Amino acid sequence: MSYTVTLIPGDGIGPEVSSAMQRVIDATGVKIEWEVQLAGEAVIERYGTPLPEHVLESIRRNKVGIKGPITTPVGKGFRSVNVALRKALDLYANLRPAVSFEGVPAPYQGVDLVVVRENTEGLYSSIEHEVIAGEAAEAIRIITRRASERIVRFAFDYAVKHGRKQVTAVHKGNILKVTDGLYLNTAKQVAAEYPQIAFNDRIIDNCCMQLVQRPHEYDVLVLTNMFGDIVSDLCAGLVGGLGVTPGANIGVDTAVFEPVHGSAPKYTGQNKVNPVATIRSGVMMLEYLGETEAAARVESAVRKVIREGKSVTYDLKAHRDDPTAVGTQEMADAIIAAL
Ligand code: NAD
Repeated sequence: MSYTVTLIPGDGIGPEVSSAMQRVIDATGVKIEWEVQLAGEAVIERYGTPLPEHVLESIRRNKVGIKGPITTPVGKGFRSVNVALRKALDLYANLRPAVSFEGVPAPYQGVDLVVVRENTEGLYSSIEHEVIAGEAAEAIRIITRRASERIVRFAFDYAVKHGRKQVTAVHKGNILKVTDGLYLNTAKQVAAEYPQIAFNDRIIDNCCMQLVQRPHEYDVLVLTNMFGDIVSDLCAGLVGGLGVTPGANIGVDTAVFEPVHGSAPKYTGQNKVNPVATIRSGVMMLEYLGETEAAARVESAVRKVIREGKSVTYDLKAHRDDPTAVGTQEMADAIIAAL
């Protein structure tokens, strides 16, 4: 069996972590033909857009993609390629597991959380404008029953399939009464169809505090778009940071895998950052493809290298300026050797 996968290396640290991932996945022996497609600021001059149609076409054709992070300018410039890609392909579920690793410096051990984030609407609908130039601006937060229902259903189906015990819907329904009221009511209706899984809900601010103090009380979290974006970084922090946390954007018959972290521009080209978040996004891709044995081998090789603590990048050392930290590609080499 061989697969064709669209690979978007991204920019900033993207190309470095993507090539590390590619080498590790190739070393499993699973036959993947990588269809490399470029997106982001670097292609605007050539195609007039940071997300050319042929990139989307490649993912539509192959049904599976994996990408490095892509920079989005703050407060000006083009819309996020990452958000636009998820919307264009209707990759409605953003799945971000946050699991403790033995050997990773982190506030807790034994954390095992899954963040399920709605990926297509909410406050990231990109409908915003100035009302009075330089004085007032507004953004529109769109919540629909359809998107709420399918994301909560995704969270429950995931819980059933993976032997999870509890789903928590996170919201701000006390203030955003209409939008999050609709979200929460829809969540409650879907929850009633899954009596075998415990269901509860939490107001977002309280939930953040409890996650920091008692993360073990949570299991699967399901959130609207922006809350999910923020809480998934919080959960990444609970298990050792963005360097180890993978992600997947999943639609009806198409999926694009990517780390939770961004393009960390200050580290571009330094062979310094941790490739594990992208390698573990590759593990999620292997699982999605049904290559569960290869996926398990990579995951356990990653765990072994991190547990040994020798061939790891700076962020996994007790002190970030530890001179024994290795580079991105050297950590990938150690993972390949451990396979
Ligand atoms: P970031 O995730 O790029 O970096 C924040 C910090 O996290 C870094 O300075 C670094 O200390 C740490 N970090 C990130 N990745 C790491 C790794 N692999 N190994 C070790 N440490 C790592 O977040 P940011 O600085 O807020 O965003 C930078 C750019 O990335 C922005 O343009 C943003 O829009 C974009 N972004 C893209 C995506 C995506 O492509 N899906 C996601 C988030 C942010």
